[in-house]
Amino acid sequence: PQLANQIAAGEVVERPASVVKELVENSLDAGATQIQIDIEDGGAGLIRVRDNGIGIAKTELPLALARHATSKITCIEDLEAILSLGFRGEALASISSVSRLTLTSRPQEQKEAWQVYAQGREMETTIQPASHPVGTTVEVANLFFNTPARRKFLRTAKTEFAHIEEVIRRIALAKFNIAFTLTHNGKIIKQYKSAVNNQQKMKRLAAICGENFVHHALEINWKHNKLHLFGWVGLPTYSRNQNDLNYCYVNGRMIRDKVINHAIRQAYAERLSANQYPAFVLFIDLDPNEVDVNVHPTKHEVRFHQSRLVHDFIFQGIFDALNNEKV
Ligand code: ADP
Ligand code: MG
Repeated sequence: PQLANQIAAGEVVERPASVVKELVENSLDAGATQIQIDIEDGGAGLIRVRDNGIGIAKTELPLALARHATSKITCIEDLEAILSLGFRGEALASISSVSRLTLTSRPQEQKEAWQVYAQGREMETTIQPASHPVGTTVEVANLFFNTPARRKFLRTAKTEFAHIEEVIRRIALAKFNIAFTLTHNGKIIKQYKSAVNNQQKMKRLAAICGENFVHHALEINWKHNKLHLFGWVGLPTYSRNQNDLNYCYVNGRMIRDKVINHAIRQAYAERLSANQYPAFVLFIDLDPNEVDVNVHPTKHEVRFHQSRLVHDFIFQGIFDALNNEKV
């Protein structure tokens, strides 16, 4: 089974940033409102994610590390309508197969915390008492220590940390109300306070996308039937010569999608020249039955059941916003 985990790890765990993404998504699924991410040596040394979510009961702890063990779906109908970020139950199993993983947790109803430890192929999961407030901490040490070929592909700590920062930016944009702290080698690098009102939200948007984007952004809020498109698009005057400011989320999940990109591009049409890219932070919410997120293990891709409908809906929302704007 550990070999299967390591093979799965090849798909899910490309680099430290992918570990951070999976762990933070677990914290979000657990309803955490505060998430701290501590990194050492670009993540190759240590990745630690601590949250104040619902925690994991002592009896469930070893299960959390088992492959295909997820507490998030229980039947095929659930798979048809996924609202949690995780559902495949393979992230922790995969990560622990290529690292030394410690999982410490305490749910509200438990007086004491418990800890399990797993390491590479051996996968010993001894359970021992620990000290921890309500919530969960996952520590991933020595990533790829037992897969030297993969370890060789890691870039400098600086580059790997830059990837981690981007993962945190993407997630912080989607979850304004959650507080995030990111440290590197003991130093606080990014701190996003919980943003509830509009002013706080704009502050976070500016911190992530730049003041300039905020000053040249149009707010979008467009509903049709059960589709909802909201967020911000840059005015044509704020177009960029790289597609480095496009964040797109479907039901809270950051994705890359050709249909969506095409619709956005088309809404700008001749307002942009061929080498210009629109800037946007857009959220599309739709009935989870209308979209398949189980397309790839990394879950970056989705498939819309009615992609033409989604395309035209997005086009219309942005096109109207751009054309109603008197510039
Ligand atoms: P998935 O997220 O697809 O369910 P994972 O391997 O990422 O699978 O996690 C396995 C299980 O461990 C989850 O279903 C959840 O029950 C539990 N778990 C993992 N991380 C946390 C966390 N931070 N807080 C609470 N439960 C967690
Ligand atoms: Mg998960």
